[in-house]
Amino acid sequence: MLGLIAFSTLFTHVSHVSAASVNAIRMWTAPDHTRLVLDLSQSVTYDLFRLHNPERVVIDLQKTKMNANVSKLNLPDPVLLSIRHGKQNKGATRIVLDVKDGVSPRSFLLKRAKGKPHRLVIDLTPRQNKIVKFKAQQPKSKHKDIIIAVDAGHGGEDPGAIGPNKLYEKQITLGIAKALAAMIDAQTGMKAVLVRNGDYFVKLRNRVKKVRSAGADMMISIHADSVKQRQVKGASVYTLSESGATPDRIAAALAAKENASDLIGGVMPGQEVSDPFIRNILGDMAKRDGLDSSEMFANLVLTQLKQGLPIKYGKPKHARFAVLTALEIPSVLVEVDYISNPKRERLLQTKAHQKKLAQAMFTATKSYFARMGRLHQSAPTIHTVHQGDSLWSIAKKYGVSVSNIRKLNGLKQQALRVGQRLRMPQS
Ligand SMILES: [Zn+2]
Repeated sequence: MLGLIAFSTLFTHVSHVSAASVNAIRMWTAPDHTRLVLDLSQSVTYDLFRLHNPERVVIDLQKTKMNANVSKLNLPDPVLLSIRHGKQNKGATRIVLDVKDGVSPRSFLLKRAKGKPHRLVIDLTPRQNKIVKFKAQQPKSKHKDIIIAVDAGHGGEDPGAIGPNKLYEKQITLGIAKALAAMIDAQTGMKAVLVRNGDYFVKLRNRVKKVRSAGADMMISIHADSVKQRQVKGASVYTLSESGATPDRIAAALAAKENASDLIGGVMPGQEVSDPFIRNILGDMAKRDGLDSSEMFANLVLTQLKQGLPIKYGKPKHARFAVLTALEIPSVLVEVDYISNPKRERLLQTKAHQKKLAQAMFTATKSYFARMGRLHQSAPTIHTVHQGDSLWSIAKKYGVSVSNIRKLNGLKQQALRVGQRLRMPQS
């Protein structure tokens, strides 16, 4: 009996070897498409076609078993209504996607790369939304707001760096980006554009495209780094470099890691960014201005981060980051900290710390445009003391320090008078 069980187990195992299997299915909903990613045990041969009335996208995977649980997918989504699968002849698996009218599918296979298995990617794009198009073409008003593009690194298939307690870089970057965007939008004369607004993948080239089409005046790309040495911590700020005048191997390795996002996130083979310098993007003078202003802005960001946050490198560093190629505007990439450090990982996932980081970048942004004469620093903020106020509670409310309030107002004693007017330091 025992022998028989052993035999049948062996037999089943052997029969699996020749066939591929779908081991997992993930779904990412982006504003302009929905992406399905199938993890495969090996490369497969497949057909993809559409059926109408009702609208369906059918994928036939030859010699493939379905081991994935599709019931966990968060459906329906704006494009994909439901998903089902069944066995076909000759060991094939058919997957049927019930989709909204006018959805067009696109698919491609990805080879094993950067710790990811063979994958089949299916992008479902809904019919172009004409209202959105019309809005984008509206003429710019005379008194144009300063537009800041805030780019949350990674997303969707690409988690970015992963912390020792499984915190994903893509989560932190989005949290900080949203906090920063909220601060920018609350500032008169400024407006934020989030390059990524949820958990989905945006390829590097499309990030730059989005920054340009938004007419952005500045671009801040937010990341968190990871290294083997767990104790390493602190922020660093990067701009695009022109050449290897002072080759920085560490920065170059970091850029290579960030540029690999396309490989992990899933870009149709052949469309990855291989080297942002391919088309000699540093050719003209207008773009060089962008480099100088990036350097200036990078210094301002570091100055702000240094106020109470650990810094890894005290000066801006330079490398070929594909996401920083909108050279006509100041563009910086901020590695806010090291997610590989367990203490920093814990801190990075708190809203309070994300806000603190966002605040530093926001203040740097304001001082940059104030220097450019494009943003008038507002009149000093005055706080009138109410019953129950303490210096501590006021400081917390305005996001400033108690000692700065004391200094600015020449306060010697702790006690406050109700009705007392206090000038608030610029946060
Ligand atoms: Zn990153």
